[in-house]
Amino acid sequence: MSIIDDILKGLPDNARLRAFIEEQNSKIEILKSENNHLKNKLKRLEPVGFVESEGLLWKKKSDGTFEKRPYCPHCTNNPIMSQFPPGMTMEWMCSKCDFGADGKIEPPKV
Ligand SMILES: [Zn+2]
Repeated sequence: MSIIDDILKGLPDNARLRAFIEEQNSKIEILKSENNHLKNKLKRLEPVGFVESEGLLWKKKSDGTFEKRPYCPHCTNNPIMSQFPPGMTMEWMCSKCDFGADGKIEPPKV
């Protein structure tokens, strides 16, 4: 069998594979667009149990008031922030990502 015969024999498989790849590529495009849509939707949501105020996240207590210390809006798991330098009210600081905010920002008024 000549090389040309081999190539001609493979043509139907190549056409099937090409159609399969095109179908998969279009599915990938649909998934990419869905993924972007969901990522944008997630960005707009406040983490469950928090209220965003002045760029910081505040956790509501069972009595309806807010905890005195904010939580980091940038880190996953939103760690609690501390005053920096310790004992002063200069800056709220995240120990994980070093995000800082004005230390005079207070919990939202109820
Ligand atoms: Zn952080």
